[in-house]
Amino acid sequence: ERMMEIRRQNCNPMTMKVTYYKKPVYIHQGHMQWLWDVDGRRYLDLFAGVATVSVGHCHPKVTAAAEKQLRKLWHTTNIYVHSPLHEYTEKLAATLPDPLKVIYLTNSGSEANDLAMLMARLHTGNFDVITLRGSYHGGSPHTMGLTSNAAYKYPVASGLGCHNTMCPDVFAGPWGGSNCRDSPVQTIRNCSCPQGSCTANDKYIGQLNEVFATSVPSRIAGFFGEPIMGVGGAVQYPKNFLKDTYKLVRERGGVCIADEVQTGFGRTGSHFWGFQGHEVIPDMVTMAKGIANGFPMGAVVTTPEIAASFGKGVHFNTFGGNPVACAIASSVLDTMEEDGTQQISHDVGTYLLTELAKMRDKYEIIGDVRGKGLQIGVEMVKDKASRKPLPPAAMSEIFEDTKDMGVLIGKGGVYGQTFRIKPPMCITRDDADFFLAVFNHALHNYME
Ligand code: PMP
Repeated sequence: ERMMEIRRQNCNPMTMKVTYYKKPVYIHQGHMQWLWDVDGRRYLDLFAGVATVSVGHCHPKVTAAAEKQLRKLWHTTNIYVHSPLHEYTEKLAATLPDPLKVIYLTNSGSEANDLAMLMARLHTGNFDVITLRGSYHGGSPHTMGLTSNAAYKYPVASGLGCHNTMCPDVFAGPWGGSNCRDSPVQTIRNCSCPQGSCTANDKYIGQLNEVFATSVPSRIAGFFGEPIMGVGGAVQYPKNFLKDTYKLVRERGGVCIADEVQTGFGRTGSHFWGFQGHEVIPDMVTMAKGIANGFPMGAVVTTPEIAASFGKGVHFNTFGGNPVACAIASSVLDTMEEDGTQQISHDVGTYLLTELAKMRDKYEIIGDVRGKGLQIGVEMVKDKASRKPLPPAAMSEIFEDTKDMGVLIGKGGVYGQTFRIKPPMCITRDDADFFLAVFNHALHNYME
């Protein structure tokens, strides 16, 4: 174990953060919702490599599909066509409503959002982009500009011209202000309505209008928004917020992009795509993570019209649409249907949300329980009255304790104050009960 730690420190950059600081977890093996470390300890995985292992670690069916393709053809690049590419893109297109039918395959969510931003600018002839405060849309120089969450930003000029103190091109609304590192970070959820009943839409749309009036003088290329914010801490918007935002953005000539990197593929339970829960049809949908159960892949799906604006150039991506990735992603879509993963997301997610809400009523340090399906956030506070974030040391104590009792969860939110639960969509109600008992115990230990 010590040797592994020395190897990690020697070879891995400081920016590569391990989650458990007291003692990093060395994962050795996975099967469905379970992970094992090098000492043979088993963990219930409720974070899924950040909402990425969608149908289960090493799912036998998907593994078999990968093995089959690996023996046939690994790579051609997109200068040739191959049947896994056609089979997959047809299957993926069938999950989306018209006119979202043109698919570009990438290798990650950042690449997908980079491409979507490029297409939005080419299509509209405009430059400015609006994102939401607290959002995460990627770590490439361009998408770092879209990302509002200060923890993931570097104070250098990005491809967006995003400098230390001003962001001329990317604006974060409706929570106000520019989205640069130096900007004052507000609490991401300045609304304390119980989940789903928020009526503050007017307030947020008002803030968005301010962004239009003061920062975006009629040259808007697009709006990026997740249907439910992921890294930001499972933040949900008031009813009609996305619908109204899409309308306002389109009125000003911009296109609307749904970042479904976390919310897609049935994770929200009630719909296959998160945007379907908002009664909107985006102009572009970006996806990655759960698309191939952990195999690197991403995609942008857009309309023929936007694709035509982009079509004049050449888009080359060596690995995008790789045969193995396509075979895996295709098997993932089949498996989702066969295993009923969206239904599991809905059923186990609803159960977890109900039980966690009971815990919120019991514990002074649980400020909010929110999310949908298996995209859940538990926001921790010093106390309910102040709604101040629970400090990092306290968060870590609960987090490490939960791990020591055999459950892996995630952290997020602008202050790292939100526990995140986004497991492989094969977990059972018994697993949920196990987690609830462990979490209860960890909170109890902390309060003592
Ligand atoms: N969009 C969202 C909503 C994400 O959560 C992430 C990753 N956390 C990304 C984009 C970037 O994806 P990737 O890490 O695959 O580049």
